[in-house]
Amino acid sequence: MRGVVFTGDRGVELRSFPDPEPGPGEVVVRIRASGMCGSDLHTYRAPAAAESGALVVQGHEPCGEIHAVGPGVPVEMAKIGDRVMIHHYWGCGTCPDCRTGWPQMCSVIEPRVPTLNEHGGHAEFIKVPALQTIPLPPSLSFKAGAAIGCGTGTAWGGIERLGNVSGRTLVVFGQGPVGASATMIAAALGARVIAVDVVRRRLDAAEKFDADTVLDATAGDVVEAVRELTGGRGAELAIETSGVTPVAKQALDVLAPWGKACFIGIGAYVSFNTKETLRRQLTILTSWTLSTVQQIRCAEFVVSHGLPVDEVFSHTWSLDDAVAAYEWFDQQRDGKGVFVP
Ligand SMILES: [Zn+2]
Ligand SMILES: [Zn+2]
Repeated sequence: MRGVVFTGDRGVELRSFPDPEPGPGEVVVRIRASGMCGSDLHTYRAPAAAESGALVVQGHEPCGEIHAVGPGVPVEMAKIGDRVMIHHYWGCGTCPDCRTGWPQMCSVIEPRVPTLNEHGGHAEFIKVPALQTIPLPPSLSFKAGAAIGCGTGTAWGGIERLGNVSGRTLVVFGQGPVGASATMIAAALGARVIAVDVVRRRLDAAEKFDADTVLDATAGDVVEAVRELTGGRGAELAIETSGVTPVAKQALDVLAPWGKACFIGIGAYVSFNTKETLRRQLTILTSWTLSTVQQIRCAEFVVSHGLPVDEVFSHTWSLDDAVAAYEWFDQQRDGKGVFVP
């Protein structure tokens, strides 16, 4: 099979690999959609020498159909032709973290992660433990399943951390794939969403995804604008997806007393003065991707609310276009890309 690898310093190559064979407890999934994720760019931009994962196939948002089943996998769990999403981490399988659906936090073995130490989904096939496959609801496309596996699922995880968003004002900083998904999900849950970005096309998409108000951060002071929109009090809730330090600070500054902020974007540094912050009784949360259980719940919610998750993808690429696809994605001016092998 062919697979996309990163060679460092923004190098991308399509290389040949042996077709995977499933071992005991494993399945091989034929990829029908493999999402591009903002976190790919950390590896893509890394210097060649420092990139230890350069030779594994990239892509950690795979979705497809079971192509081959290894020994010992019960037919109820996986059979050829099943449409599946993939929870893209696996651990020991038996520790408390793994058993509660958080194999990425496994404390017994180093978690296995496509793109880091296992081959990922930007290929024709991927081999994974059968336990890490999750049925894709019949009404959802493979693209939707790919999005729920990471970008949209990460938004879901952050919103679950915030708790009840219904009837509350939520500022979503960044309208990339995760932020756009957060806007869509929170609006469907009944939140009044204020969507913030610096790219007009992304703000237009946020409007389509039912944001109550969109704010162009290049056009004025976001913190002031949120105060005006909330009668001077501030927002009850904020989600930060950009990973940019000054933006992360705004996520705290927009909050009303008793407000909660959830940090999802990677790379920002957040500092706060405890005296000022505790007098506002703020809650500061982080959220890292999602559990297997949350992936199932997120998919059910997308189905029951008919959310247009596919529309988070603005571009579809073939594996042959991988170089151009990542050059485009590196600009971060649009939505999300997906490979359809
Ligand atoms: Zn991701
Ligand atoms: Zn474990």
